[in-house]
Amino acid sequence: MSKPSTSCFPFNADLTDNLLTTLPDFQSLENFVLSSKFVYDVFQYRSSSIFRAVARNQIGSALPQALRLMKCITGKLGLRPVEELFQEADFAPQYNVSPAEARMLADNASVVKALEDVFSWRGKDPRSKSNRLSDAESLRFQQSMYRFWLLSASYGPLAFENQSGDQESVRENIWSSIAKETLFLQSFGPLELIGIGEVHSFLHDVAQWATLVQPTAYTSKLRTPGCAYLLWGGPRMTLDAFLGRMPNFKAEDIQLPLWNALTGTFYQPDIASITGRWSPARGQSVRRRRSFILDDCFLQSIHCNQCLAEYSRTESMWSTYNWDYMILYTHPSRFIEDFLKREDKRTLDTVLSFADMYESTPYTQFVGEVFDLRSEVYKDWKREDWVCTQCMRGLLSDTINTWFRWRKDRKKIDGVVSYDGISVRLLPRLG
Ligand SMILES: [Zn+2]
Repeated sequence: MSKPSTSCFPFNADLTDNLLTTLPDFQSLENFVLSSKFVYDVFQYRSSSIFRAVARNQIGSALPQALRLMKCITGKLGLRPVEELFQEADFAPQYNVSPAEARMLADNASVVKALEDVFSWRGKDPRSKSNRLSDAESLRFQQSMYRFWLLSASYGPLAFENQSGDQESVRENIWSSIAKETLFLQSFGPLELIGIGEVHSFLHDVAQWATLVQPTAYTSKLRTPGCAYLLWGGPRMTLDAFLGRMPNFKAEDIQLPLWNALTGTFYQPDIASITGRWSPARGQSVRRRRSFILDDCFLQSIHCNQCLAEYSRTESMWSTYNWDYMILYTHPSRFIEDFLKREDKRTLDTVLSFADMYESTPYTQFVGEVFDLRSEVYKDWKREDWVCTQCMRGLLSDTINTWFRWRKDRKKIDGVVSYDGISVRLLPRLG
């Protein structure tokens, strides 16, 4: 019997080193390293180059943006002017990654990845909740997301967490951060700036959605445009809110006008002229700007199944695949007037009862019930059809009273039914 090798591992140190550099992410690296004493020793000897390679494998070409964010956060560079921050060009391919940095990179990457899935569902192809972005679209999304993350980390609410001084001086510091934010944005080229603007709009939608479907005492004060606090709290806070984990803050602590002012920088003339965010004068048509992140999207290829309207980036098309998100455009409260017009008894009790019914019904379930109760006029509509916002509002408006009476007639109102929709999964409070 031959003597076993000291490692019991089939490869020598060089091959093992090579193998470690091909692993797709830090989790795989950790699992592999802990699997054998020999592998562990190889890793210890060459950890810097291995970490660098795995960081590249996991984060890809957005690594300079990811490293910049990570180093600015660990360096506590919040509120510094842009010239004092690390720059993307500082992170050449030879940059070494420490174990602590690797953990933070991996953690941040998981947030960006989760948001990319939502972005794909929302913007690329609502028929799927998994990522449908091409490699090029994915890279543009990730780079833009890391840049916006750095912007929010540098000048948003979390940058002020450890600020001392009286409230007035803190407020002054916040206002002065807006000038720094503007200079930060102006340090990017026009296309990069459009990408940051698109990520900002996307996260704003997500934050607004989260505050609408989780109407707690605090979040009710955060509704449009108050969701800016979640937005500027950064991608991690916005994602947490989307997943039903609202931050633990007090309404009086959130200085809403100030965070809204950060969003206002995107409307400053010198930035808005690039990102196309100016408000058109009455009667003036909005110029359509081609998306920077997406090359194309599914909704662009379809028309409303009913009125044949085209998809518009400012609104959307809806079907059973994305009814969850329609609450941003068609909140049940907007039908209260239609409801009252058709009710014989317009008592306060009736109104409260109506509000209670839609507030206690998860939104997707609400739309599904209304859809199933639609009148003969709408009988040829199918759940899978793509329908514009205006047509969906017509259906909801015409059916809202039928829905109310149907709900009232039910002996027992269910809490949450077993829908597979994302809203039920994300709505523990209503469950
Ligand atoms: Zn339509």
